[in-house]
Amino acid sequence: MNFRTIIEPFRIKSVEAVKYTTREEREGRLAEAGYNVFLLHAEDVLIDLLTDSGTGAMSAAQWGALMQADESYAGSRSYYRFRDVVRDLTGFRHIIPTHQGRAAERILFHTILKPGMVVPNNNHFDTTRANIEVEECEARDLVIAEGRVPSAVHPFKGNVDLDALERTLRDDGDRIPLVMVTVTNNSGGGQPVSLENLRGVRALCDQYRKPLFLDACRFAENAWFIKQREPGQASRTPKAIAQEMFSLADGCTMSAKKDGMANIGGFLAMNDDAWAEEAGTLLILTEGFPTYGGLAGYDLEAIARGLEEVVEEPYLRYRIRSTEYLGEKLQAGGVPIIQPPGGHAIYIDARALVPHVPPLEYPGIALANALYLEAGIRGVEIGSVMFGLQRDGSEKASAMELVRLAIPRRVYTQSHIDYVAEAVLEVARQREALRGYRIVTPPRPLRHFTARFERLEG
Ligand SMILES: *Cc1c(COP(=O)(O)O)cnc(C)c1O
Repeated sequence: MNFRTIIEPFRIKSVEAVKYTTREEREGRLAEAGYNVFLLHAEDVLIDLLTDSGTGAMSAAQWGALMQADESYAGSRSYYRFRDVVRDLTGFRHIIPTHQGRAAERILFHTILKPGMVVPNNNHFDTTRANIEVEECEARDLVIAEGRVPSAVHPFKGNVDLDALERTLRDDGDRIPLVMVTVTNNSGGGQPVSLENLRGVRALCDQYRKPLFLDACRFAENAWFIKQREPGQASRTPKAIAQEMFSLADGCTMSAKKDGMANIGGFLAMNDDAWAEEAGTLLILTEGFPTYGGLAGYDLEAIARGLEEVVEEPYLRYRIRSTEYLGEKLQAGGVPIIQPPGGHAIYIDARALVPHVPPLEYPGIALANALYLEAGIRGVEIGSVMFGLQRDGSEKASAMELVRLAIPRRVYTQSHIDYVAEAVLEVARQREALRGYRIVTPPRPLRHFTARFERLEG
């Protein structure tokens, strides 16, 4: 069938009502939440685009698998099923389940890092960076120049700058235990990495004898972009492309809350026997026995099934298209966004949209709050509130002021997305009325989760 309309590749057999609120109610709820959407009750949100992590809808097959699960403490059948699916996809020898992605990061980095070491990556995700820095090591971002410019268009904005990686390996090689690449590059806006770039990273890793690990949270979305954009890849299946991506690496960390299509879970996988043995010891200390790693047998079943569903073409076509569709509607309405749209989210450039609100009066907060008040939609500021607080307690404007609208997997339909686009355009139309905010709570690390704000008048 060769129609232009791309449909949701599922039908719905179980629904959850969304709750409508009045503008007056939303004003009250947001004031109670200190004008911080993280502090809202989710029930008071109509369409929740805070994150795509753990918020997806599971399939009937996943829910069915839950009932089939084996909850044995050791050697559970569900573990072996999970292990076999992960091994078939990644090819890695050791498969270590964890309760989510950051647990895999913490176990990997605590096992292999010594103070003063350096970990190169395209862009470290915030938990990845935090788990490296807590070991007194440096997380070094080496994404290509285009990856740092919101308006720059490039098919693979997540690519690693190979010259910069080579310099880092040459100058600091003795302090580098491994190289990481994040696919897709979340901190850079969900931008993909090409196979060609991964092969280039692999060649440098071979030359300098370093293992390569993928932060694989959105490996399937990355594989889809490769299929669409990389010469010679169009006729391959997303799974075959994903398998090649993993074959270029020696291990990975994974959050199953993203492309695992599950509500919780993750894993660490690798080929190195000695590292795996040490990681297994730490796993028992903090997560659980190696055949469950902090998860229920039914979580392992849900992830195993999810990893099979996530590489299906109809799913990925719909997934990436629905994100792009929102991006196109906003752009057509003159709303500045990061280009091109990434896999899992649209990032609105709040600094460009509300230039009259200075960075340290938080244009991203002004925009995110207006979206909630206007339409009951929850997005998240990624800007000076999230990144502006310095170690010495001072404040510095972040490089960008963004509002991220992350799309949960298989949760919202096209009419929901149309509603979101209409609401954003309406807020954009009223942008001159938007006012900044100031923070009224004491500074603390990761303040964006807990800070309370006051609206500035004038
Ligand atoms: C979400 C995410 C993580 C951390 O995973 P959690 O399951 O949230 O702990 C790590 N890296 C990337 C790229 C992510 O998107």
